[in-house]
Formats: sequence, C-alpha cells, structure tokens
Amino acid sequence: MEQEHFDVVIIGGGHNGSTLAAYLAKSGVSVCILEARSECGGGQENTEVRPGFKIDPHATFLYGGAAPGFDQLELFKYGMRMVWYSSMAGLVTLDGMAVNLGGRFTAGLAEESIEKYAPGVSTAEVGNIFTALGEAHMRELLRALFWTPPYPLDVEVDLRDMPWWQVFRKYLPGFWTEELVDMSYIDFLEAMVTWEPLRVVAAFGAWYCGAHPAWDGMLLPSLGGTLLYSYSSGSPRGGMHTYAHAIIRCALAHGARIITNAPVEEIIVKNGRAVGVRLSDDAVLPEKTIWADKAVVSGVDVKQTFLRLVGKKHLDVSFVQKVGDVSLKGGSLFVMHVICRDLPNYHGMKEPFDKTVYPATIIAPADSMDFFWTQTQDAYSHKIPPAPTPEHLTMMICNHDLYDPTRSPEGYHLLSPIYIEVPPPQYDVTGPEGINRHKSEITKAALNLLGELAPNMKGDNIVDVFVNTPYDSEFRNAGMSGGNWYGARQSEDQWFSRRPLPELSRYRTPIDRLYLCNHTSHPGGLCLMAVPYNLMHILIEDGIAEPGSWWYPSDWWLSEGDSPKVEVK
Ligand SMILES: Cc1cc2nc3c(=O)[nH]c(=O)nc-3n(C[C@H](O)[C@H](O)[C@H](O)COP(=O)(O)OP(=O)(O)OC[C@H]3O[C@@H](n4cnc5c(N)ncnc54)[C@H](O)[C@@H]3O)c2cc1C
Repeated sequence: MEQEHFDVVIIGGGHNGSTLAAYLAKSGVSVCILEARSECGGGQENTEVRPGFKIDPHATFLYGGAAPGFDQLELFKYGMRMVWYSSMAGLVTLDGMAVNLGGRFTAGLAEESIEKYAPGVSTAEVGNIFTALGEAHMRELLRALFWTPPYPLDVEVDLRDMPWWQVFRKYLPGFWTEELVDMSYIDFLEAMVTWEPLRVVAAFGAWYCGAHPAWDGMLLPSLGGTLLYSYSSGSPRGGMHTYAHAIIRCALAHGARIITNAPVEEIIVKNGRAVGVRLSDDAVLPEKTIWADKAVVSGVDVKQTFLRLVGKKHLDVSFVQKVGDVSLKGGSLFVMHVICRDLPNYHGMKEPFDKTVYPATIIAPADSMDFFWTQTQDAYSHKIPPAPTPEHLTMMICNHDLYDPTRSPEGYHLLSPIYIEVPPPQYDVTGPEGINRHKSEITKAALNLLGELAPNMKGDNIVDVFVNTPYDSEFRNAGMSGGNWYGARQSEDQWFSRRPLPELSRYRTPIDRLYLCNHTSHPGGLCLMAVPYNLMHILIEDGIAEPGSWWYPSDWWLSEGDSPKVEVK
C-alpha cells in the first residue's frame, strides 16, 4: 500500500487543531487532521436532544470576535453566520430585582434598568467598567491579551510593560495606576463598583469566561474574559458547531485532508525528532502509520501528548515530572438544559424583559458577594458538591432562541445551557463520582431555585430537562478533561510565557518538530482561534509555513532574539 505522507500531521480536530489546519492549508502546506471521534469540532458541538431542540453540550457563546482568523481565513465565505445579541447580560435577585444590563449595542439600557431598582446608583460605575474600558479600542486590547504569542524565554519584561498593560495605558491614561498590575479583578470591582449585585454579575461573569477574578495579578486577563464575551456579543447561527463547520470547510477548500475515526496512539520519534504518528488498530484507515515530513502538531492536551503519545523513553525525567504536575482541572461546570413553553417571569419584575433586548445570560441569584465566595469555596477550597440551597447555586442562565429561532420550535423556549460552577471531579473530596452521585439532588435544587425566582417555572411549563455533569462532558468528549472549559488553571503561573510550562510556552517542545495546539497552551480555553494564530508565528519562524499577503502577525510579536517592545511610557 502507498505510504501516507504529509508536510504536517495534526492530532485532534477540535477547535484549535482544525483552525490550524485551515491556516496551514491556506499557506499551501499539505496537512492532515487525524480525529479520534466520528466528527471534528471537539468542544464546538451541537446536539438535537429532541427533534427541533438544539443544545450546546460544551461551548455556547462565540468569544472570538476580535480574532484575526475571521478575515484571514474568510470564514464568511465558508458559511459562518453570526447572530448578534442586543443584550448580553442581566441579573435576578432573590429579593425581587430583575435588571437588564444590555450589551455592546444597547448603551444606556443598564442605567435605565438599574434606576428602577436602585435609584441613585451612579451610572458612571456601570460606564466605567463596561463602556469606557470596553469600548476604547477594545479589539486592540483583546488582541494584546489573547492574540499575541508568548515572548521568548530570555526576554525579561516588567509586568507593567506587558502588551495588554501598554494598550491599557495608551487609551485609558486616566484610569492607570501602578497598583492595577498586582490587583485581582475582585480588588478592582471593590474599588470601582458600589452596587453589590453588579459586582456579583461582574465577578461571576469573569469566572465563567476564564481567569478566576480572585487571582492576584490577573486583573486584565480576568476582565478580558468578560470583554471577549461582550465584544463578540453573540453566537453563530445554529450554534457553535456551525462555526466549526466553517473552519473545516475552509481547511478542505484549501486542500487539507481530514480523517475521522482515527485515534492516534503514538507520536513516532526518531533521533529526537517527530516524524509521524501511529494510529490505533481500530482506526478506519488501513494504513496505520502516517508520516509527517515537516512537523507533527498535537491538538490534544499537554499530558496526553507527552505522557501517552510521545512516551517517557524519549523525554528527560524532570520534564516528565513537570508535565505530570500540570493540573488540567481548571474549572468544571454542571450543565443543565431546560425546555419550557414560556420564558421565566422573574418575580418582582417591574416589567418583563423586553423580548427584543432579552439578556442572553442572566446571573441568578445575584444578591450578595457572599454567594460568590460560597461557591468559590465549594469548588476550589472545600472541593465538595454544592449544598442544595440558593447561596451555593448561583446560575448562569443562557438564552439563545429569542435571537436565533433555529434553536427551538415555535411555542417553546430553551434555557440552555444553565451553568453552575462545581469542583473538578478528580479534586472532589467526596470522590470523583461526587457530582454524579448528587446529580439529581443538584438538578432538583436548581429547578426549585428557578421556581423561586420565577414562579411560572413549574409544572407543565417545564417540558424536559437534560443534564451534563463534568464527567458526562468528559465521556462525551475526551478533550473536555474534568468538564473543564479552559484546559488548565488560568492563574498567573499559567498565563503567557508560563503556560503550560515556560519551556513549552512558545508551542515548541523538547521533541524537535513537535508543536502544541490545544487549549492547554496560551491563551487557554475558549474557541478563539488564538492558539493556532499564535502558533502560526512560530511555524513561520521555523520555516514550516509561508503564508501569502493575507497573513498579518500580532503587533506585539517578538522573534527569537528581538527586544521587548515598550511603546507606551
Ligand atoms: C461546559 C463547557 C462550556 C464551554 N463554554 C464555552 C463557550 O461558551 N465558548 C467558548 O468559546 N468555549 C467554551 N468552552 C471551551 C471550549 O469548548 C474549549 O476550550 C475548546 O473546545 C478547546 O478546543 P481544543 O481544540 O483545544 O480541544 P478540544 O475541543 O477538546 O479538541 C480536541 C480534539 O482532539 C480529539 N482527540 C483526543 N485524543 C485524540 C487522539 N489520541 N487522537 C486523535 N484525536 C484525539 C478529541 O476527540 C477532540 O475532538 C466550554 C467548555 C465546556 C466544557
């Protein structure tokens, strides 16, 4: 049989692997994706749980609006269609408030809505965070944070001169103080926002979007998660899998080969260099060895890459130890999907949310920062399943179907997903099956809470409920280790040139011609096209890809040997 040879072989056709294939194929590189499951997309999945009801078991909102990939890969040409949401956030409290915080396209809505419940709350404090900082050259700030490859290891930069702080100083000199660099987002909220429910929404919003808001020194990455969300302001029509389809069609149109049902079992290393991969015996392809003439790229997590696919015999013992010590348990979600006939009538509402500006996510109950700390303790300190009382169960309730009618049939609505933060299974002190054992108790308590917040969310109005525990997510998709949405923790020691380890931060590895392209590399989780965009800089530097004039690098890109850019004093 003819041997299979490609310039580049990519292991895993999740969001990051398939986007890299599109970038490389468009650069004229012969590239092949080998995907274990029967289709590509990884965490960008959609499922029809009942005919006509389409849910997202994992990723649900598009956060990558600032990505260069949309124009570089011309995804519109390959079927990418965004639905823009006019309000991205709202809050509901146990004591009867229901506030629409609006979004990027509805300035003024928040002030109007807050005024009904909290007369006299300064509108400036809303503006300070969501408008002034957000709208002032947001795309540039986001690209500095997420679409910038980590610096070479020998480059030393003062923290205040990191790209994101330079952009911040450039556009918001009035906000800038040296203290910001060491602050957590919570410190910042305490200093800036007096109205507690707004602080609760901002803190939960950041936690659900990436870096935990209590981590010192992570103010901008933490706030950046929510800015990504508000800048993008929507989701692909039909759900996240249609975004994956556009990327895959782009890759195919430029000549990439995609092989599904093809689990990789081994990365073949000869003389310290990655030269190909071996598929498992049950892979569909008759030929089990696929050769990579220029590079192997791993689109799967850092632990599987080295500890299973490369194998210890090719690696230094201290490196093996360090990879073993990387934690993949950054944060896990209990995910519910509720089919209902009528939308919730949240109690105490001065008037129902206007359906043309319905909040795409609602944080509830958002009464007190104590709720935020209680849940943080459950998930990260005590590491126990949440108790079935409201202060342990603050939810992020997502609503897509008012904006995207393809999600559910007429006459019905989907509250989907409803997320609750829980401990990663492997850290749960009650055992890895802890959340699974409490699945029906947590579901019942969450539905009771929903009924307390919105009295019509009971009886016949609830048509069906589906639940994914973190373990369910992992079994659905091996990439979603522990149901974790950002690959590894997003604290200071897992950011930029430190993620997942300093020696791996530029996506290169101790194995020559083996590169990393998974959400365990910088900038981490979410479907941002950021890991492959950043990796392209390295592949170009290493002579593996030569893209055409459509390519442009990050403004902050540093080649090996370059000096750090300090443009903003
Ligand atoms: C509950 C939840 C909610 C989320 N919400 C959002 C959201 O709203 N927006 C957002 O942007 N992101 C969200 N995310 C995060 C997002 O889904 C991930 O960050 C993203 O999918 C990571 O992409 P990836 O390509 O790095 O990995 P994956 O998507 O995990 O892809 C890895 C691929 O590799 C394959 N694979 C594994 N092992 C092998 C092997 N040995 N051989 C061949 N193939 C293999 C897997 O089958 C998989 O297809 C969420 C995640 C979760 C769990």
